Amino acid sequence: MADAKRDYYEVLGVPREADAKAIKDAFRQLALKFHPDRNKEPGAEERFKEIAEAYAVLSDPKKRADYDAGGFEGLKGMRPEDLFGGIDFENLFGGLGFDFGGSIFDRFFGGRGPGRRGPRGVVRGDNMELLLRVPLERVLSGGEEVVSVDHPVQCPVCKGARTKPGTSPRVCASCHGSGRQIRKSHEGGVMLEQITLCPDCGGAGSFIDQPCEECHGRGLVAHSESLTVKVPVGVEEGMALRIPGHGYPSPEAGGAPGDLFVIVRTLPDARFERDGADLWRVQDLAVADAALGTELEVPTLDGMANVTVPPGTQPDMVLRLRHKGLPNFGNRGRGDLMLRMRVLVPERLSAAERKLYEQLRELGRGRNAGGGR
Ligand SMILES: [Zn+2]
Ligand SMILES: [Zn+2]
Repeated sequence: MADAKRDYYEVLGVPREADAKAIKDAFRQLALKFHPDRNKEPGAEERFKEIAEAYAVLSDPKKRADYDAGGFEGLKGMRPEDLFGGIDFENLFGGLGFDFGGSIFDRFFGGRGPGRRGPRGVVRGDNMELLLRVPLERVLSGGEEVVSVDHPVQCPVCKGARTKPGTSPRVCASCHGSGRQIRKSHEGGVMLEQITLCPDCGGAGSFIDQPCEECHGRGLVAHSESLTVKVPVGVEEGMALRIPGHGYPSPEAGGAPGDLFVIVRTLPDARFERDGADLWRVQDLAVADAALGTELEVPTLDGMANVTVPPGTQPDMVLRLRHKGLPNFGNRGRGDLMLRMRVLVPERLSAAERKLYEQLRELGRGRNAGGGR
């Protein structure tokens, strides 16, 4: 099994002699990218687990020495708790809104996953995903957005048990509560067991004689709520913000609900197109301005800015306004604003313009006589 594992240094993409800071930086960068609350691509969770394990070992001088000396063999016998014991995830990712507490640990190393059995052996509800579209200004400054969520929750009166409080369901006499019926038959000396759903209770194992009045025995009630979501500065396209406990209800009485994942996407913007932390804009330019150069006033997320267009600007040439793009997620500076020049050739000319263009053509003829490049 250890053979299939990738080398920890390779996982973090650092040289073997990397110092503690380099290891921490590499881990932070990768973990931000692959954290399963953030990255919903298939395989991201596995990748994150791999990264976290590599960091757990390489960030601890003793474990790192054991690993350097003996490879995976050197760490044999360590339980996940021993491996991850020393890492303060909260401190590493403080303020970024990620869950590195008990639940992610359980998810990876406790043998449970989302929607699996919780601490009391009860099935958790499914996670729910919701799309939130935000303007570029929200990505720039971060802040709160309100989302409305509409889904049933477990009935507050019976807690999902479906029976009137103080009463209990009557156990099905035919199947003694198992919900199944086993039919045994002999065929040529072989005993066959056929298991079917109990026809009396339909597999439920019990009957509810006195249903809960609040939910009419459904165990669920309709529920809508408004939630305030904190959108982090520089939130990336498709990033998921996790709100624990606001997903679908558990199918079992008393079970915890799943989590809500708010997937953030940017609203289309007439001025800019988003490309990661960079913004792109198509900037119209008159032919004369392209040839002679000019000063332009262009919109940015921080207001209007003056841009110098150099003489001889070609169609599709890109002018870069440094740090006028969106912030990079995780406090890593700002992207750029790219202005792609669209040179506008006049479709109609006045008599005066026509005359001037004809003169320009004459003047240019000598220069272009040698043929183009
Ligand atoms: Zn109820
Ligand atoms: Zn039954």
